[in-house]
Amino acid sequence: MSKYEASNSDLTKNQTLVMGALSNANGPLSAYTILDELREHGFRAPLQVYRALDKLVEFGLVHRLESLNAFVACQHTSCGGDRKENVLFAICEKCGSVQELANDRLLDVVKSLAIDIEFSLSESVIELRGLCASCKTS
Ligand SMILES: [Zn+2]
Ligand SMILES: [Zn+2]
Repeated sequence: MSKYEASNSDLTKNQTLVMGALSNANGPLSAYTILDELREHGFRAPLQVYRALDKLVEFGLVHRLESLNAFVACQHTSCGGDRKENVLFAICEKCGSVQELANDRLLDVVKSLAIDIEFSLSESVIELRGLCASCKTS
């Protein structure tokens, strides 16, 4: 059972619809794109989408990509809980695909850098920009 299915029963109707839109998408979606897709399901205002997204991000089911101002469904089962604080994304500048990467060693490095400056870390999202494997060769 995927994490999405496992937690699906705990989600509200709106959260489930937003999660579905993101899960079916090939890449990250902006809140307004999600709103457009869900209008036929009764979504009327961006606030409805943002409320659902806030919760999904909190649950670790969805991540926010700051540089794109967009959201992407989590591709890992280990996110959520304390893993939520460190996520790494490789964003293709040509096709827009996003790959989510996890690395415990990197998390340790980030944590120790924060400790060095007595910084209290709540979240770190690292976004790598470049070309994905298929765009690189085409
Ligand atoms: Zn994730
Ligand atoms: Zn690409």
